[in-house]
Amino acid sequence: MDKVAYLFVLINVVCAQYFEGYPPSTDGLRRIEVNGETESDSSLPYLSRNKRDYGFGAIQNKPGHQSAAAQNHGKSDNGFYDFLHYPSYNEIMAYLYRLARLHEGVRVITIGKSYERRDILGIEITNGDRRNPILFIEAGIHGREWLVPTTALFAIRSFISDRAKFPNTDIIIIPVLNPDGYEYSRTTDRMWRKNRSKNSQSSCEGVDLNRNFDIKWKHRSQSRKPCDETYSGPAAFSEPETQALKNFFERNWNRIKIHITMHSPVGSIMYPGGVGDSQAQSKKNILSCLAQSAVSVLTQPQNTVYKVGPIDRLVGVAAGDSAYWSMIRGGSETSFVLELPGKAYRMATYYGFHLPEKYIIPIGTETYQMLSVFGRYAQTGKCSSKSNTQSKVRPNQKEGLIDEVTHFVSNLFVG
Ligand SMILES: [Zn+2]
Repeated sequence: MDKVAYLFVLINVVCAQYFEGYPPSTDGLRRIEVNGETESDSSLPYLSRNKRDYGFGAIQNKPGHQSAAAQNHGKSDNGFYDFLHYPSYNEIMAYLYRLARLHEGVRVITIGKSYERRDILGIEITNGDRRNPILFIEAGIHGREWLVPTTALFAIRSFISDRAKFPNTDIIIIPVLNPDGYEYSRTTDRMWRKNRSKNSQSSCEGVDLNRNFDIKWKHRSQSRKPCDETYSGPAAFSEPETQALKNFFERNWNRIKIHITMHSPVGSIMYPGGVGDSQAQSKKNILSCLAQSAVSVLTQPQNTVYKVGPIDRLVGVAAGDSAYWSMIRGGSETSFVLELPGKAYRMATYYGFHLPEKYIIPIGTETYQMLSVFGRYAQTGKCSSKSNTQSKVRPNQKEGLIDEVTHFVSNLFVG
């Protein structure tokens, strides 16, 4: 068996092991059909309440009828987005501006420009009090993880809808930190991960932005080869996208209570916690409490299984990544890597990066449930031990194997 075939088989075994225990696919998909058939489903609480503001035109119609926007796959230049397809960068921008137009206390921010000069945009939800702590969510650092930007948009609309629950918290969300890589993945190379910068020493393009932060940057686990998917760049913060994020953290020094970086498709919540890293060790209780509390809200009815633990234990040494950097050096009180799943609910198939679009809304819904836990912490400064002890994360008898395999897969598909 050649190496590629061996890896393919191994990955399939891994996925089968990792997602073992899911109920078979029966009626599980019915509740995510949003073409007017199942709008009363309680797992989609926002759809009927906020349909006018948030562009769920299809939901308003009579069963069996789709809106003009939905028939056109929701593509429009007026900011309408239906969460039934993966949006382009231009659609994402238009959607952000539309939300800002519609809602008081919501504004579009630009933290910088990408290598190809696209604006790196975000949404700020604020009451204007600059003393507020910040819940900061950064998404779309890797081009091929299409589920991530759309889930970030879902979180934005949900946080706007739930604004009253977080009155003294500023919520800032960047849906696409790497717009060049995202568009390149959409138009040219579906599995493109890096940004699109030129390398002076090689014809290979792009830097893995999530290896370009100034934290353990010269670690041996990082790639110095420009053609590699995890190429860490010619220097720490060599890329405009990582520079933009660094500048954002500096402007908001000591205000960021939580930094969440969203990826896919591993299905995990991780946090800094390397052995010998005293800063991470001193916060391990609150980091663990928040991560466990977040997954505890997923027990019913979604059945999505998330792995929880320190980055170093789950995927090996973190070097040059945004989550480690932000908490150790970037002034964020806590940080988390939220890896969205490549298989969830009652799916029979492991989709990885290629999750069908009909899962955007259910995954957006459950992800927002988790993000609400972090929002409550930003608002109150407390992590509920009750939800922590009630965590029903499934014990997995193959944890040792899974750790090993997760490490392996994450280095292959590096989420
Ligand atoms: Zn990623």
